[in-house]
Amino acid sequence: MFILQMFGWLVFSCILMSFIEHQVHAQLMHRRNYFSDRSPKYKRVFEAHAIKHHGHYSKIFSDEPVPEGEDEEIRLTVHKAPMKSIPAAALIALFSWQGAMIFVAVITFHHWAWNKIHLEMHKPEKRGFSNWPIYKFLAEYHWLHHRYPNKNFNVVFPFADYVLGTCAKPNAEDLRLMHAQLEPELVPQREYANVR
Ligand SMILES: [Zn+2]
Ligand SMILES: [Zn+2]
Repeated sequence: MFILQMFGWLVFSCILMSFIEHQVHAQLMHRRNYFSDRSPKYKRVFEAHAIKHHGHYSKIFSDEPVPEGEDEEIRLTVHKAPMKSIPAAALIALFSWQGAMIFVAVITFHHWAWNKIHLEMHKPEKRGFSNWPIYKFLAEYHWLHHRYPNKNFNVVFPFADYVLGTCAKPNAEDLRLMHAQLEPELVPQREYANVR
């Protein structure tokens, strides 16, 4: 029973994190908003992502491996994740302190995973996970976000986009470009398969 409860809190935390990821990305990172108009910290969050990150990767999705100390605003700050989790974790703690601990772990994992996969997407170095089907799915999902910046706001937990109707629907040209950029080594085979 205890294990089942903990599993329930894990699923709940991942779903909640998916909505938080969606809203933070859509409202704070892509739009000028109440906070960015008043606080330099939030202004920087908006400019770093919407202007710098999307500006840099709007034409080409991937470029050279990242130089030491630079990342074109690809990464989040992992050690700040537990602090950011406090408001939601405090609410969850009213029901279960174990649930609150699981949420803190999930948000920390989220930031860590965001950094690993987002870096491999934009600065590919053929990291160990780069052939995992889940990574390939997320890379294609994020490629479409850079093509349609008002769609696919989820990066690590793609769930809220499906519920909130912000899932990108790629056309044939999108798919052709996406495969050419993400898996150039497979393109001749795909084209051959189409000819047959
Ligand atoms: Zn990106
Ligand atoms: Zn974005």
